[in-house]
Amino acid sequence: QTGHISITGVSKYFGRHKALDNISLELEPGSVTVILGPSGSGKSTLLRAINHLERVDEGFIQIDGDYIGYRQVGDKLYELKEKEILRQRVNVGYVFQNFNLFPHLTVLENLIEAPIAHKKLNRKEAIEQAYQLLDVVGLRNKADAWSRHLSGGQQQRIAIARALALRPRVMLFDEPTSALDPELVGEVLDVIKKLARSGTTLVVVTHEIGFAREVADNVVFMVDGKIVEQGSSDEVLNHP
Ligand code: ADP
Ligand code: ADP
Repeated sequence: QTGHISITGVSKYFGRHKALDNISLELEPGSVTVILGPSGSGKSTLLRAINHLERVDEGFIQIDGDYIGYRQVGDKLYELKEKEILRQRVNVGYVFQNFNLFPHLTVLENLIEAPIAHKKLNRKEAIEQAYQLLDVVGLRNKADAWSRHLSGGQQQRIAIARALALRPRVMLFDEPTSALDPELVGEVLDVIKKLARSGTTLVVVTHEIGFAREVADNVVFMVDGKIVEQGSSDEVLNHP
């Protein structure tokens, strides 16, 4: 089973500010990890580091043994070229706070473009897959809608489907419901819960404690770039 994330002694500075301070984590294939913590504690930076959207200053991150952003030659690590980094990133699904769909494309076009470009699916295969994913997120009837005409909750569900279309080993969510009106939060969390049951490794930065309690295998609590608590949701969230 794939989707093992290994984070070893990772630190990251912005100028003199230490945004990540010696972070180590082992996330098992198929596990669901929720990262909690106050604003500015480094949650987003950690998530971005897992996808090499931020280069770390110390330590390293591996997914299924591959160094993220680096290639090992002998006992040395060499940073990958931009093109190789992009290829590696195809294995990591990333869902942003603000959906980031292509507004000038229909829902279906949003879902088929990347797998045709990066997964060598032909158009017919990509369309078949897109409809399967639309079933997963409950939006089959929106295939031909313009992305910008959907509600925020629907756009985020399509953004999740688009990430899944590349068949990633892991899925990272950066506050996926923070930009939504309260009544739309549940429909997005329901899709993430469904993924949690499907065996994809998930890392979710969120302030939704109820979600963490219900689906997280691991809860990580960060303050000032450090992990200050880590354990099962029972251990971290239910102590007196
Ligand atoms: P969180 O996601 O927990 O709100 P972030 O990871 O966004 O926290 O930020 C952690 C700290 O690093 C904050 O103090 C933030 O201001 C700082 N930071 C994040 N990105 C940058 C950047 N590109 N340049 C400088 N400082 C940054
Ligand atoms: P989030 O809390 O979702 O990480 P932020 O508003 O903290 O969002 O950051 C938005 C963007 O600005 C990110 O790309 C982040 O890296 C960058 N950023 C955050 N803090 C700083 C900072 N102090 N200086 C420069 N860039 C920053």
